[in-house]
Amino acid sequence: MRIIVFVAGLCAALSVAAPTAEAQARFDVLIRGGSVIDGTGTPAQTADVGIRGDRIVAIGDLSDTTIIATKVVDARGRIVAPGFIDPHTHTAGDLSDTTRNSNLAYLMQGVTTVVTNNDGGGTIEIGRTLDTWTRQGIGTNAALYVGQGSVRGSVMGMTGGAATPAQLAQMRAVVAKAMDEGAIGMSTGLYYAPGSFAPTEEVIELAKVAAQKGGIYDSHMRDESSYTIGLVGSINETIRIAREASIPVHIAHIKALGVDVWGQSDSVISLIVAARASGLEVTADQYPYTASGTGVGAALLPRWAEEGGNDSLRARFANPETRARIVTEMTDNMRRRGGAASLLMTSTRVPGILGKNLEEIARERGKPSVEAAIDIILAGGSSVASFNMNDDDIRNFMVQDWVVTGSDGSGGHPRKFGTFPKLISEYVQKEHALTLSQAVRRSSARTAEMLRIKDRGTLAVGKFADVVVFDVSTMKDRATYPEPTLLAEGVKFVVVNGVVAIDNGVYTGETAGRALKR
Ligand SMILES: [Zn+2]
Repeated sequence: MRIIVFVAGLCAALSVAAPTAEAQARFDVLIRGGSVIDGTGTPAQTADVGIRGDRIVAIGDLSDTTIIATKVVDARGRIVAPGFIDPHTHTAGDLSDTTRNSNLAYLMQGVTTVVTNNDGGGTIEIGRTLDTWTRQGIGTNAALYVGQGSVRGSVMGMTGGAATPAQLAQMRAVVAKAMDEGAIGMSTGLYYAPGSFAPTEEVIELAKVAAQKGGIYDSHMRDESSYTIGLVGSINETIRIAREASIPVHIAHIKALGVDVWGQSDSVISLIVAARASGLEVTADQYPYTASGTGVGAALLPRWAEEGGNDSLRARFANPETRARIVTEMTDNMRRRGGAASLLMTSTRVPGILGKNLEEIARERGKPSVEAAIDIILAGGSSVASFNMNDDDIRNFMVQDWVVTGSDGSGGHPRKFGTFPKLISEYVQKEHALTLSQAVRRSSARTAEMLRIKDRGTLAVGKFADVVVFDVSTMKDRATYPEPTLLAEGVKFVVVNGVVAIDNGVYTGETAGRALKR
């Protein structure tokens, strides 16, 4: 291969060096000599990747070609893969804020596309948000769900109970508008208020609207544990929604949360495998951590206590009878999550508790753990890392062909900065639970398929040039529970829509991502 690096103003001099006998190709970016894992699941092959504009235009052995390239990336000894796709993030706030729109936490993991508004939340102004991103620029590509909790909140506030026909019609209209503006589907957070107040039938009616518009249904299920209808009951509810609404369903952060349901991954997998065999498209994502991340209130309060919002909650605490009922249920919820010591405060405005677990806080304050939790909730709350998963269930889900990688990244949990590298360093390199090609596939091509993201997720001629080049031996998450915002390492180059965003490990300042519409 003869490579001529094209520098503006020097082309005349360089053209003298260009031979005439060999084939010639001109690229904006040439990624040279890497081990290419294309995302389809096939093993690595040494190849060059040529990019022109926002597309991959050549892939293979270009050694007999004279190449004129503006930028040459030396990938020898490194892995070249499709930029990773994260189906579950909470990045809308970052992407809309011009000081954080680089989405660096994700770029440094090799992620080039994120989906957000998961768990039923986020803005219902889909069109306006996508326009803002296009106008201001975003570091990665991004797509949006419309969140059922937000839709319900916009029509019914924090009111419990079923919707009236008029309210249901209003909610259907909100979903339809959001879908028309480019949402890729509807997400739910049926564990969280106010989404949790919706009966199954209401969710089905809204999912039908998303289905008619060609969207998918993404669900943080009603119960990943033993709170209400149970983990298996929730899987059944989710499958029912998909079946009755005729919509592909994607289960968010699949897990068996808490001692009561440890070991139930087998039952969950059989239900999903059976549903898939019957023709339903049921898929899931997963983050490779034993702790989930949520709020103290969401983790411990019974949902009925939140009906009506904060003032109602305070009133229930002020009433000795309801307070006693809440305390009893909170005590059980704490047990199912593994006890007070398993709840670590990770992000909070409440002074003096950050980095401590609930047991330590209760001891310092000389009161029972549940009372300390109530103090924290009433003082404004806190994010928690809740250590509630067992590694056998994690691995059991991980190796299923219908499970992909998703960070569910949120403030205070290292998964936002570490999910994708951790999967490779821990579950490929160390534990050998997955091959590298499998890990790449379930972080790119498979995810694109599930989310109906066109022309991304694989390395092939004609596809968008979203590419990550990483060093498999140094690929590693650095974020920890005490220090959850440390950027990952090992990712050397990231290309987003043909533009180099990470160059030799350093962010270039480019915001080449696109707002993706259904
Ligand atoms: Zn969630």
